[in-house]
Amino acid sequence: MTTHLAHPPPTRSAGVIEILNTSRHEIALVLYGIVVLAHWLEHVAQAAQIYLFDWPVPEAGGALGLAFPWLVESELLHYGFALVMIVAFFVLRHGFGGRARTWWGIALGIQFWHHIEHLLLLLQAWSGVHLLSRPVPTSIIQLVMPRVELHLLYNAIVFVPMVVAMVLHRRGEDAGEPQVRCSCARVPSGG
Ligand SMILES: [Zn+2]
Repeated sequence: MTTHLAHPPPTRSAGVIEILNTSRHEIALVLYGIVVLAHWLEHVAQAAQIYLFDWPVPEAGGALGLAFPWLVESELLHYGFALVMIVAFFVLRHGFGGRARTWWGIALGIQFWHHIEHLLLLLQAWSGVHLLSRPVPTSIIQLVMPRVELHLLYNAIVFVPMVVAMVLHRRGEDAGEPQVRCSCARVPSGG
């Protein structure tokens, strides 16, 4: 019988990914969850400003957007955040197994499309050439749904499967899977 290392010597980035999916998976998921939730709540706040308080759409920038309007106006920033989310979804997925991994993958897939929509917006903002000659940069699904509502929806339908994945993972539903080597699952107290 041959003996071999369970894992090849990691490169630096592989080492970071390994750590983020094992000993630091739990804290990485908590921090990422907070960032994603905070971002989504900004979209909820923006919708509330429009629907509950009748603010004109250009003035409804969520909470942070009131203090820092460029946060809302910069297509590059919107795209950058969507891209960071894609990277986080890819990096943190290794520590999931079973149904939790499936749900995480669903969130990743929806976010990937969301990020493509932001890429289209960014390219239009840079080029000045807008989809169907619309007066403002316009993404594909935006042809059938206004931008504020669309991105509120996008962030919701990414957040929900992400939370389902985290709950299943936290419950230890995937604890028996070989790739799950983190401390996220609640250990039964036995008491
Ligand atoms: Zn974990």
